[in-house]
Amino acid sequence: MAALAERLAALTAAIAEACARAGREPAEVQLIAVSKLQPAAAVAEALAAGQRDFGENYAQELRDKRRELAPDPLAAAARWHFIGPLQRNKAHLVVGQTCLIHSVDSLALVQALAARAQRLRETSPGFVQDCLIQVSVAGEAQKAGCDPAELPQLLDDFAAQAAAADGALRCRGLMCIPPAEGGAEAARPHFQRLRALRDAARVTQRPHVDLLHLSMGMSQDYAVAIAEGATLVRVGTAIFGARPAHA
Ligand SMILES: *Cc1c(COP(=O)(O)O)cnc(C)c1O
Repeated sequence: MAALAERLAALTAAIAEACARAGREPAEVQLIAVSKLQPAAAVAEALAAGQRDFGENYAQELRDKRRELAPDPLAAAARWHFIGPLQRNKAHLVVGQTCLIHSVDSLALVQALAARAQRLRETSPGFVQDCLIQVSVAGEAQKAGCDPAELPQLLDDFAAQAAAADGALRCRGLMCIPPAEGGAEAARPHFQRLRALRDAARVTQRPHVDLLHLSMGMSQDYAVAIAEGATLVRVGTAIFGARPAHA
């Protein structure tokens, strides 16, 4: 087995173990292989090993990588997740190109995504772009993510924008990136907070908002995230090895 396939298999087993410890079914947790800054060949290798969900952080890189992979017979089976900060003027590169946008954190971005999604719906009836709201759980103002105190308002705004876009946008849950310092245990209270925010927000029914998912946990702390209720874990380094630096 190639090294990457071995790492994927070990990770899948470790995720199943973390689920068992938490009394959860492995099917409740989906592994997203974070391929940002990794070459298309590495994605092709992961596809060949059976991985289907991939996470990318940069809109142009996503577009270019998909073009490069297109001749691969397995490329059509890949599901792409957008997990990085997204500029409004890049909405067209991501809406309709990804199964889930994890990093929605402002009304302005919701508006840009809704406008693009509504346009796609005109030519593809029934088109819906799924999104998550990214929350700045540690309250770090300079970081991406909406302030936890502003989450209910942003969800209200999301519902209104989605309705105005004929339902072309849908919110499926929340995402967070805890501070990197301190290791896995330091992340636990942040994961707990995201789950509590989700549970509290769920009490209010909003059209086009259905808070099913918690996208949390990366290479160093996915097991803790699973214990705290993650449904989507985003793992890069533990699958692909170290990343080249971003240019
Ligand atoms: C890079 C990245 C990851 C993966 O991080 P690893 O530590 O390599 O597992 C997960 N989520 C987001 C948002 C990222 O930017």
